[in-house]
Amino acid sequence: MVNQQMQDKYAELALKTGVNLQKGQALMINAPIEGAEFTKKVVRKAYEMGAKDVHINWVDDELTLLKYENAPEEVIANYPEWKVKLHDYYAEDGAAVLSIRSTNPDLLKNIDPSLVAKANRAAAKAMVNFRKHTMNDKITWSIISIPTGDWAQKIFPDKSREDAMESLWDAIVKIVRVDQDNPVAAWGKHNKTLETAREILNEKSYKKLIFKAPGTDLEIELPEGHIWKGGSAVSENGITFNPNMPTEEVFTLPHKYGVTGTVASTKPLNYGGSLIDDFSLTFKDGKVVDYKAAQGEGTLKHLLDTDEGATRLGEVALVPHESPVSQSGLIFYNTLFDENASCHIALGKAYPTNLKGGSEMNEEELDKHGVNDSLTHVDFMIGSEKLDIDGVKEDGTTEAVFRNGTWAMDVKGK
Ligand code: ZN
Ligand code: ZN
Repeated sequence: MVNQQMQDKYAELALKTGVNLQKGQALMINAPIEGAEFTKKVVRKAYEMGAKDVHINWVDDELTLLKYENAPEEVIANYPEWKVKLHDYYAEDGAAVLSIRSTNPDLLKNIDPSLVAKANRAAAKAMVNFRKHTMNDKITWSIISIPTGDWAQKIFPDKSREDAMESLWDAIVKIVRVDQDNPVAAWGKHNKTLETAREILNEKSYKKLIFKAPGTDLEIELPEGHIWKGGSAVSENGITFNPNMPTEEVFTLPHKYGVTGTVASTKPLNYGGSLIDDFSLTFKDGKVVDYKAAQGEGTLKHLLDTDEGATRLGEVALVPHESPVSQSGLIFYNTLFDENASCHIALGKAYPTNLKGGSEMNEEELDKHGVNDSLTHVDFMIGSEKLDIDGVKEDGTTEAVFRNGTWAMDVKGK
């Protein structure tokens, strides 16, 4: 097991760089019971840093599954009012929110997907006010992960539970830079690189990106007024925080009617507990018109059938191939990690915050500006050391953005 000192450093990093906890502020933590020891380290550190109150929402995979297996549908498909009130109470008090997500990716594989969808929809509907606080950065929030037994064994199926846990701890501390002497400083430097990348891209304001790699020849039009985001965010009252740890991407939205060509996946996609691997999609006017998969073609079809928006793109993200997640060589079956492995695009919903004025637009206006909408948002990896990306400027000139899977621009220099 990663030593106690390393876990202490990780707890501190989550509070300082993750949510950037302030003196006198409350903290709400969502944490797995299996990670109680680590969570208590976070709580201890939070009080040391001057937190006025720390509240934990404990979650447990086994208990979640027992509820799905035994509770009547009307209970599962109903999100309780008291939970909404609890979240609103802390959000309105300006609390920081830290989520430790370590669910077994296969947990719900034998549960009827429509029941899971109903529960998710009910939660999404009920938590609309709380989500406004997080999605619009009214409060500071962060998502991190720690190893849990089932998840670790999914990643390392040939190892004992204990060894798998240890291997996953080793991988995570490297990826979140906790193995470095001063992780908080390392993140400061890392955030600066991401900030430089998004500033360059925002200034360039490319009309189009062209992706070329084996099996890939794809043109992605970017809507007028698109905004590149990534790395740290700033809350309404000026506190810098990191919504995701790890994070390696800068991302924006494709024009929902402006994607043409074919793209090949470079890593397997875990969708609802099933793997889709070695697949490609062909787009015309933004819509998937053809697809194939060496593995999981039926699952891919199911995903594309979700709704009209699921056949269009909602995100394009640039991640250098040498990212620490990619270097680990692992597949985590967890988006927080896997989406930071390489360049990716997502089928489904786009973030309106990636467009100037997008958060204030209604559905019709968003559609007119090319912002995709869907019930789903599924990232899949298209990056490799063979990927080249060109940016096409307003005046039609073309320049190199990525060469051989990494930045062709000076994102570290400034
Ligand atoms: Zn992404
Ligand atoms: Zn995404």
